[in-house]
Amino acid sequence: MNGIRRRPNLLPLPGVSSGFHMWNDRPNPTRREMLAGAVAVAMAPVIFSGADAQAADVENPLVIDTHQHLWDPAKSMQPTIVKSSGVHRPLYGPVEYAEATRGLNVKAVYMEVDSPADQRAAEAEYAIGLCHDRTQATIAAVIGAWPDDPALAAFIERFKPGGFVRGIRQVLHASTTPPGMCLKDEFVRGIQFLGKQELSFDLCMRPAELSDGLKLSHLCPDTRFIVDHCGNADPVAFLAHPPAGLKPAHDAEVWKRDMAALAKRPNVICKISGIVARAPEMWSAEMLAPIVDHCLDSFGPDRVVFGGDWPICLKRTSLGNWIEALKQIVAPRPVIEQRKLWADNAMKWYKLAVG
Ligand SMILES: [Zn+2]
Repeated sequence: MNGIRRRPNLLPLPGVSSGFHMWNDRPNPTRREMLAGAVAVAMAPVIFSGADAQAADVENPLVIDTHQHLWDPAKSMQPTIVKSSGVHRPLYGPVEYAEATRGLNVKAVYMEVDSPADQRAAEAEYAIGLCHDRTQATIAAVIGAWPDDPALAAFIERFKPGGFVRGIRQVLHASTTPPGMCLKDEFVRGIQFLGKQELSFDLCMRPAELSDGLKLSHLCPDTRFIVDHCGNADPVAFLAHPPAGLKPAHDAEVWKRDMAALAKRPNVICKISGIVARAPEMWSAEMLAPIVDHCLDSFGPDRVVFGGDWPICLKRTSLGNWIEALKQIVAPRPVIEQRKLWADNAMKWYKLAVG
């Protein structure tokens, strides 16, 4: 489905790096990298360096991070995502995000953080407030709501008019959410309602239940869906020899089949995000490549978007290292397809205006 080209040997990128370097301004390699084959970096194509790219783009190309989590306890937000993520700092706000993306030309779509039901209005207000603040990166928001909540319409009516809300998410992989939940009548009706409101729904579910997402996309053909985190694929499932003690969370072939089926749905796109957070401790770009490649090949260049999933990615590494790894993985693809992944598709999908 694409003319994939040879990829240079990918560098190991374990650990958390405090520095951040985009595209072609990579710092001098460490001795470890040199030993690991830093020549690969020198040989890797420079991203967005096509003749049609504007000079400013080449220096600092736009990145749309479609999965930005922020939380602030001063705004009454106690997201359960904090407990489950292993990321414990009480405050991850726009200042911290700016530091994490220093050197990047980034704009972001806020992603809800699984706040308790009674704090979801406060969270939506917080996210929309960020969008109003032109000094920071957030320019649109996906807010949290249960699609089967009888109060969904009122919630949407309250927060949609400002023009910043693009969609709704309710994570479906929580231990309290049984399989098949998203196929219940009330849930389906809520998702159909979102379609009428021109709002999307993020499918964030256990990889073994992606077929439920597929059924939902058939039941709601006028609603747009985003498959979060490459279908929550587990990098361990793709290792020929997993590290001792690590068991894959799902079957790789079933995931491949289900993602390919989702990709056939015209109302579904895929978010390339999240996978680094669950990678083994000694992870590498190479380890993530089978997942990214299958998503990109299945969904095609026009229906994939990038997501940082910061600060959850800090479970394993910095946002900069995740971007660097993805940059290496997609380096063999045409520059125009890379540009679509990093920014253009998200601009279209979310109808974003940057400037
Ligand atoms: Zn996330």
